[in-house]
Amino acid sequence: MRAAPLRRLAPVALPLLLALPLAAGAWSGVQHIQISKAAARNLPDEMAAFRDFARPMALPAIYPDLWKEGDPDEGPRHYFEPDRLPPGTDIRAFSPVQIEAFLQMDAIPAEIGIAPWAIVELLAQMTDAMRATNWTWAAQCGAAMSHYVADVHMPLHCTRNFNGQETWQVGVHSRVEGDMTKAFFRADAIRPGPAGHLAEPFRDVMGWIEHSAAMAPVVLRADLIAKRSANGRIDSETYFLRLWELTGDVIETQISDAAAHLSSLWYTAWVNAGKPAIPAPLDELPVLSVHSGVGIDPASEGGPVGASRSRQNQRYDTIIWAVMGGLALLVVASSIWRGIQERKAKGP
Ligand SMILES: [Zn+2]
Repeated sequence: MRAAPLRRLAPVALPLLLALPLAAGAWSGVQHIQISKAAARNLPDEMAAFRDFARPMALPAIYPDLWKEGDPDEGPRHYFEPDRLPPGTDIRAFSPVQIEAFLQMDAIPAEIGIAPWAIVELLAQMTDAMRATNWTWAAQCGAAMSHYVADVHMPLHCTRNFNGQETWQVGVHSRVEGDMTKAFFRADAIRPGPAGHLAEPFRDVMGWIEHSAAMAPVVLRADLIAKRSANGRIDSETYFLRLWELTGDVIETQISDAAAHLSSLWYTAWVNAGKPAIPAPLDELPVLSVHSGVGIDPASEGGPVGASRSRQNQRYDTIIWAVMGGLALLVVASSIWRGIQERKAKGP
């Protein structure tokens, strides 16, 4: 039943979603956090000290979706759509240097997306930061990378028909990664394969995207079948049950792979940095974009460093208060509801 899992998740998911209304447009915030935490757990034992960084890095895994508000260049970092290229194009053969790659292909970066280059650029920065023992910056780059790696494992982030707009399936994007995944996906379904060092990370990232892109038609077809089963009612329980039946395996595999691949990237950064000693984790990370310095709302764009630093702390406080407020609302609402039910049970 669709309603049951929704009820089960509500205490966790609802306050978070209240706090982060802008997190739409990718896996929901909850999945980004789950992937980041699973990747940390999945690190090889020799890098075990970095597992504790999961705490400060989990929430920042959501920030890149929020940076879109203040940074017009942020959007294309969240996808890559190989089906905009001629059929048979070997995307693994493109240069890992973005400028060179776009000279090799006939495509517009903002249209086709730049996720693979954003990922390898952050890998390079994370490696340099670890080598220089700048662990705040390493963790910030690793958390942002976590977001883009998770996004490219969502099949609809790897097709030009990302919202079913070319096949009369508009809205399929949020139905699949938002409504359905939030309702049915459980964190204990994340079973990542072992992490390993990546000798050619860019080729690997493109390989993951190739696989994700191949899953897009499966997801789009499932939407059509589920819609038919539900007599066109895409907001019905029948529709979502059938959709999960047809795509649940794909979603669970893709999210597990995202966690495995992310841990391999973090491990690769650390190995390439010369395996520096890992300190105790930080308390929290700045919310500012690692690319442009914008905050998670347009108001904190620009401004002097001191001012933006205090605004950044205010944003962090706002998130925490919104989460607490959401929880309080839930408690109050459920006690009112229980009161009404008890009064009904007693009769007039
Ligand atoms: Zn995203």
